[in-house]
Amino acid sequence: DRTRPYNFAPGPAAIPDEVLREAAAEMLDWHGCGVGVMEMSHRGKEFMQIAAEAEADLRELLAVPAGFRILFLQGGGLGENAIVPMNLSRGGQVDFVQTGSWSKKSIAEARRYADVAVVATNSGSADSAIPDPSTWALRKGASYLHICSNETIDGVEFHALPDLAALGTDAPLVIDCSSHILSRPIDWSRVGLAFAGAQKNVGPAGLTMVIVRDDLLGHALPITPSAFDYRIVADNGSMFNTPPTWAIYVAGLTFKWIKANGGVAAMDARAAEKSALLYEALDATGFYVNRVAAASRSRMNVPFWLRDESLNDAFLAGAKERGLLALKGHKSVGGMRASIYNAMPVAGVRALVAWLQEFEKTHG
Ligand code: PMP
Repeated sequence: DRTRPYNFAPGPAAIPDEVLREAAAEMLDWHGCGVGVMEMSHRGKEFMQIAAEAEADLRELLAVPAGFRILFLQGGGLGENAIVPMNLSRGGQVDFVQTGSWSKKSIAEARRYADVAVVATNSGSADSAIPDPSTWALRKGASYLHICSNETIDGVEFHALPDLAALGTDAPLVIDCSSHILSRPIDWSRVGLAFAGAQKNVGPAGLTMVIVRDDLLGHALPITPSAFDYRIVADNGSMFNTPPTWAIYVAGLTFKWIKANGGVAAMDARAAEKSALLYEALDATGFYVNRVAAASRSRMNVPFWLRDESLNDAFLAGAKERGLLALKGHKSVGGMRASIYNAMPVAGVRALVAWLQEFEKTHG
């Protein structure tokens, strides 16, 4: 019953058909109240209910413990690159692990607010393997350690979060999980703060989710804009200023879609299945190349190159004809990239694998 092509875009990205249909059906009149969600006050009882349900569903899906607050903000991942150090650095030391383009961007931004050190990096390594945490040069006085738990451009993912306590530091771990949130459980015993833009695994751009441990609130630098001071946002239930109401509503529909489809455990299993199918096809003969070490390969963003790059245009044109969209790689690395978030059905990955094999047969 599929009427639309498969969309492999990295973000903004595919949203489940069921979610889009529901949002369309309710566009002019939400639950008989006479107006659509975009048109209603964020302080009215209808939207308050929508936001409360979205927050509760996200908490349930990710098993967020009581000692953590869920904040709905604006500003995106790059906004958080400044907002996190403003709130958590106390103007002191901040440690980073650099595993790709997004952590690198976070490092550059944090330098404007804190004394930053890169305690480990995979930069320059042939297989981009995430450096073993036991080798990280953590500083004793760091206010927190930041990692990008899934590098959207480089296709590098932490399959387990580091246990900083076991490494001898009580610094909280900050994770930028923008591009794999809700594709696997999060071990909150290892995390102080997680942030994610919505536009990959959750819904429309404009919503940024921040999940933060209570004791990390209330330490913002004086220069922090009030609308980005986590303490103020938390005290006001994410309604200190007008939140991104439409994005919160669609995110809420996606949370319900995930719940109806088996929750994060099912998304986790599907991510394993889909990424295994794809990497297996890419690794089969050497016609396609992905050099990331197996243990650090992303299950969400799969960059790959045709060994003969003069075939790139033909590959993309044929993919488009077959209803496989947005496979062109990020401009900084070239080649191809298939982003296979929660909304990508297994059938979409099978269709891509079929095209990989067909193209290789005719051009190999
Ligand atoms: N972090 C990661 C891991 C991302 O993938 C992105 C967006 N591709 C960002 C941060 C930046 O997000 P935004 O464009 O919403 O600022």
